[in-house]
Amino acid sequence: MISVDEALAEILRHVQPLEAERVPILEALGRVLAEEIISDIDIPPFDNSAMDGYAVRAADIADASPQTPVPLRVVGSVAAGYVAEVGVEPGTAIRIMTGAPLPHGADTVVPYEDTDDFDRPKEERLTSPADVIRVRKAVRRGSNIRPAGEDIRRGESVMAPGRLIRPQEIGVLASLGRETVLVHRRPKVAILATGDELLEIHEPLAPGKIRNSNEYTNAALVERTGGIPIRLGIARDTADDLRAKIQAGIAQGADLFLTSGGVSVGDYDVVKDVLADEGEMQFWQVRMKPGKPLAFGLLRGREPGRKIPLIGLPGNPVSAMVSFEQFARPAILKMLGHTDLTKPTVQAILDEPLTNSGRRGFVRVIVTRQEDGYHARKTGQQGSGVLTSMAKANGLAIVPEGVYRVEAGSTVTVQMLDWPEGTGA
Ligand code: AMP
Ligand code: MG
Repeated sequence: MISVDEALAEILRHVQPLEAERVPILEALGRVLAEEIISDIDIPPFDNSAMDGYAVRAADIADASPQTPVPLRVVGSVAAGYVAEVGVEPGTAIRIMTGAPLPHGADTVVPYEDTDDFDRPKEERLTSPADVIRVRKAVRRGSNIRPAGEDIRRGESVMAPGRLIRPQEIGVLASLGRETVLVHRRPKVAILATGDELLEIHEPLAPGKIRNSNEYTNAALVERTGGIPIRLGIARDTADDLRAKIQAGIAQGADLFLTSGGVSVGDYDVVKDVLADEGEMQFWQVRMKPGKPLAFGLLRGREPGRKIPLIGLPGNPVSAMVSFEQFARPAILKMLGHTDLTKPTVQAILDEPLTNSGRRGFVRVIVTRQEDGYHARKTGQQGSGVLTSMAKANGLAIVPEGVYRVEAGSTVTVQMLDWPEGTGA
């Protein structure tokens, strides 16, 4: 049996970032950049006003004060999107709006608030623009101007490959005039449930049967992680059926397989055998609880030399989900081009003791934020078939290997299942 860290390292060794594809920038949200973005323009492209006010020459108003206001003749007006027809000569000013290009000759913008124009109602300012304004405050040269290239300089490298695309990156791409961008392709993740006991969700319950929940949990987890789920349905506990379903997934271009169930030591646990026939097993069983019977191997793809990783998740719904978070999520993230593959964690104070098997333990907990920091308590019954204990949880408290008991009041690391939204933490 290998450790969680060894198992993860082995899986990641067989998983690589997928090729780049070009997508419209809005489709790049949450994906990882696969090109360097170099700007071919200055942003902003021209010096412009950061305020509504008057474009002036700073030298003209060097001595302005409330007691000695400086009169300037208003020679024009310029709104955002337009260019002033005249320049600012000594003794003059041009009305200017936020975002409008700085007129020739001006070096400073005086906000309305620092002129007597501000005393007039806005209505009046609009209907009869002032011919002369009085500046009541000396404003330092260059004030209230956003210089060309303040944000981005022409030729500058703005984003490097590997950058996560968030809304603000999409905004930067838009301001650079990029309609499309290269990002890593999303992996197609084939999801296969195994078990003679499994029913489709629309089927009525029958003796000995249960509904197939893992397929749905896994499809949702894949989707949330950024992969494209391909649902292959239920394979019965025979090598032939499993083989046929795996081949169907390969034919659909799966980049990764996630099976659930059939990896224990029972009479009908055929996943390992089929994996050995259709490719090679890399390891089986991990020192963790829940999730010990995890299997990992490589399937032979259609093209010569192509190997498709298969993560054989345990059948118990909680074990399957905990194992997904530890192994499948990082694998999918790596395929997507992410470099940070870890789940966010917090340090939390335990409100009750935890007992542990000695393997690395993942305990379903509810994390809340209190005055002295985060607190964690169990969600109740921890059986690995009790999926509602997962539904109540917002975190997995990690008990290190070799530790059998953690006392109340001690601090544990909690992997957050939901973070930061929706935790109540
Ligand atoms: P196995 O590893 O196949 O022996 O499965 C372990 C337990 O998980 C058994 O109680 C199964 O009935 C249950 N199980 C397996 N697959 C699923 C599934 N897709 N949905 C819900 N429960 C499952
Ligand atoms: Mg089974």
